[in-house]
Amino acid sequence: MLREALLYCRREKLSYLVLGKGSNCLFDDRGFDGLVILNKICFAKQEGTRLCAGAGYSFSLLGAQTARKGWSGLEFAAGIPGSVGGAVYMNAGANGMETCGCLEEVLYVTEEGVVETLPKEQIRFGYRTTSFQERGGAIASATFSLTPSQGARGKQLDIIAYRTRTQPYKEMSAGCLFRNPPCGPSAGQLIEQCGLKGTRVGGAEISARHANFLINAGGATARDVQELARLVQSAVADQTGVVLEMEVRSVPYHVSR
Ligand SMILES: Cc1cc2nc3c(=O)[nH]c(=O)nc-3n(C[C@H](O)[C@H](O)[C@H](O)COP(=O)(O)OP(=O)(O)OC[C@H]3O[C@@H](n4cnc5c(N)ncnc54)[C@H](O)[C@@H]3O)c2cc1C
Repeated sequence: MLREALLYCRREKLSYLVLGKGSNCLFDDRGFDGLVILNKICFAKQEGTRLCAGAGYSFSLLGAQTARKGWSGLEFAAGIPGSVGGAVYMNAGANGMETCGCLEEVLYVTEEGVVETLPKEQIRFGYRTTSFQERGGAIASATFSLTPSQGARGKQLDIIAYRTRTQPYKEMSAGCLFRNPPCGPSAGQLIEQCGLKGTRVGGAEISARHANFLINAGGATARDVQELARLVQSAVADQTGVVLEMEVRSVPYHVSR
């Protein structure tokens, strides 16, 4: 089905966007002029230490389920509200762990409809970046290598407790707005230092709890979010010299093919 959808877009010269849970996307206020392929490949199958999960499977659930069963590797995933495909595509991470850490291989469908098994070594990973971000096609599933651990469940619960304490988990947001700079204070620390907590444009607001979270305080438009992000970027650059880069992916209305 995923393959057919990609081939259809190719044949019809249609723009497309493969969407997981949409937790890291900011759509244009006009929507998207093309086909949104909502990934619903939802399965998780473990054999020995190898766990294969469909790209549409909840990454957070996978983190909690594996830790509960005493497997280590994906504890950090609990609380990241995306899909397995979105986590692989973004190389999502938290608490010093990243998706690429225990990843073994990815099943990928190219825009030409070719199904490829890509070992980890053939994929480039960086901080919230992967080589998938430079090509079309879609991630169909991912296989992880886990290790048995009695401490996995405790570690996962600590991670959730930390998130609940420090992040505005009850508010609507797309997670961290900016990537952390490669060295020095985090994006959140810089924004806080610049006194920007609580700054608002329309319905978009910099969270009072965590300065790198931009929340929808009511009726925020994509335009509000983008304007507030620009305001924060320029205030931080002026006051600290650091240029913050967006982590949230802006999806333009029109993508030329
Ligand atoms: C409250 C909150 C907390 C968060 N905490 C964290 C955190 O701790 N760490 C972290 O790294 N992120 C965090 N995020 C951001 C987000 O959850 C992650 O980036 C997540 O991995 C995105 O997954 P998704 O399925 O929602 O992706 P989407 O938002 O649906 O998509 C993101 C990008 O991935 C692409 N994509 C998605 N699925 C596929 C696929 N199958 N094939 C090809 N491309 C695909 C999309 O086209 C898009 O470009 C948080 C977000 C929120 C709202």
